Formats: sequence, structure tokens, C-alpha cells
Amino acid sequence: MLTQVLNPSQIDIAATLLRQGECVAFPTETVYGLGANALDEKAVAKIFRAKGRPADNPLIIHCHSRLQLADLVTGWPPQAEVLMDTFWPGPLTLVLPKQPAVPDIVTGGLNTVALRFPSHPVAISLLQAAGLPIAAPSANISGRPSPTSAQHVLEDMSGKIAAIIDAGPTGGGIESTVLDCTVSPFRILRPGGVTYEELSSLVAVKDTLEGAPPAPGAQYGHYSPVARVVLVTGDRAKAEINRQIDACKAQGMKAALMALTDSRRPDIHFLDMGRDVSVAASRIYHLLRQGDALGLDVIIIEGLPEKGIGRTIMDRLRKAAAIVINT
Ligand code: AMP
Ligand code: MG
Repeated sequence: MLTQVLNPSQIDIAATLLRQGECVAFPTETVYGLGANALDEKAVAKIFRAKGRPADNPLIIHCHSRLQLADLVTGWPPQAEVLMDTFWPGPLTLVLPKQPAVPDIVTGGLNTVALRFPSHPVAISLLQAAGLPIAAPSANISGRPSPTSAQHVLEDMSGKIAAIIDAGPTGGGIESTVLDCTVSPFRILRPGGVTYEELSSLVAVKDTLEGAPPAPGAQYGHYSPVARVVLVTGDRAKAEINRQIDACKAQGMKAALMALTDSRRPDIHFLDMGRDVSVAASRIYHLLRQGDALGLDVIIIEGLPEKGIGRTIMDRLRKAAAIVINT
């Protein structure tokens, strides 16, 4: 199959393909998504095939209007409405009790469904033009870093999907927060673009807890580049990074350091995460993919402070890492 590369003025072509049961990749404010009609089992099956995604890893349904929710969920508690009012459209996914019309293939057989309203103007126009709820995970091969540009999507999906809408790099760069609203208090299943601090200032929220049952799909390897990722955290991280760099050099390995701009050093290839955590969020997946394009053996990453969006970034970096060294 030839993958059509569309520009944002060709949304009608993409919407028609979606209505015909095809898969289309599109930009959101987090990462590029791989969309299909959420109510069409055959169309959704194409997403799982293109990504190589395990069948028990449920998908997020994207909507643009609360009117669409009546067909998808049986209802929601008042605190969920507070969060919808505050964070939609935006990178917050709510897990709610599902209507029977939502096919099992979307939810991995669960009786709940994950929903969000994206804020990217191209995503909103596409959802409006298609007039359908769109199931869309990130448009990468399962296990690879999420795509934040059309180029990343084409690396993984060219020839496997009908089309992609190329609207340049996404803004936020890191996936949505997934919040289970079927338990009290609500529980964060996956940290994301809306932070624990923002949520808990409005409603009672439990953060992802050690020992708690993992979110469905969380057991699968994630975000991994080909290079071995060594994540170094803690007060003595810089000294440990020196040791790691020396060890790589002694073994003749091609290594790079990935860190905030302040930590740049001249003796090793530097993957610049930017001046602060919000810039880092928009860059990490690109930098991990760049490490592969450079043919690196090892990417040494300096950990970030685990507050706000830093917490989300560290969640993804831990998943990408082969080794985590706490100093
Ligand atoms: P992705 O689309 O790859 O960003 O991942 C979506 C994630 O949302 C899944 O891996 C699950 O962890 C979570 N999720 C989706 N649907 C549900 C659900 N019904 N219940 C709990 N978590 C869900
Ligand atoms: Mg994903």
C-alpha cells in the first residue's frame, strides 16, 4: 500500500479514508496518532496490525464534542466533569464505564473505555470532518519511541497505512495523562501532559503507586531505541556519568550524553534536551530516535527533577532505559 502524505488543507481526503475504514496518522498536541473509526472493528484491527500492538493493550478514543460521549460511555461522576471543563481539549484521557456499542477490540475486552479531546487544530478539524469517534494510539511500531514528526511516523508506518497528515512537529511531545475515573479517588494510570499537581488541585487523585495493579498494556516494553539507554539519577549523577563515559570510551563504544543544556560537555556527542523540563518533554522521543540514526551503541541520560512534567518525562525515560543507576 502506498501511504499518501497529505497536508492540513487535505483533511477531507483523510476524513473520507477514515469513513471508508482505513487508518490515517494525524498530529495531536502530544504525539502523532494512528487513527481509525472506533466503532468499526475491522478498521481498528488495522491499527493493531500496523503497530504490531498486543491485543490486550487498549486504545484511547478521540472525540471533539461531548455529544459524542453518549454513544461511548454510560456516564461520569461530577468530578470528572470538572476535569473535562478544565483540561479538555488537552492531554488528559479519562477512563469511564463503556457503552456496549464500543467494540471489545478497542478496550481489550474491558468494560471501561479511555477517552480524550485533543486540542491540536488539525486533529479537531479531522474529527469534525470525519464525524466519528476515532481510536488512536501513537503512530509508532509498538515498543519504539512515539512519533513527534511526520518523518518519525513514516519511518515506522510507510507502506502500512493509507495516509498521514503532515502538520510539522507536535508541540507537547509526550502522551496524555490516563486517569481512571471509575474508582474513588481517581487514579493516575499513566503520567502525562497534565500533571499530578494540576489534577490534585481540583479533585482527589491518587498517583500511580508502586505495587498497584499496572495499567493494561503497561507491562509491555515501551519507548525503546536500538541504542542501550543508561539512565543516571540522584545527587551524585554527574560523577557516575563521568564513570559511564570513561567506560564507554575504554570499550570503544559510540556513546552520547542526553541532558539539559546546562550539562553540555565537549568530550562526548551531546543530545540536547533543552533549557528546562517543558522543552525536554517536546524533545525526548526525537532525541532517542536521533540516537539510532547516529548508530549509537549507548545513550547515557542525566535524570530530571521528578516534579510536574519532569515526573512524566522520567516515567518514559525509565521505560526506555536498559539500566537505571540511582546514585
Ligand atoms: P497509547 O495509546 O499507546 O498512548 O496507550 C493508551 C494507554 O491507555 C494504554 O496502554 C492503557 O494503559 C491506557 N488505557 C486505554 N484504555 C484503558 C482502559 N479502558 N482502562 C485502563 N487503561 C486504559
Ligand atoms: Mg503509544
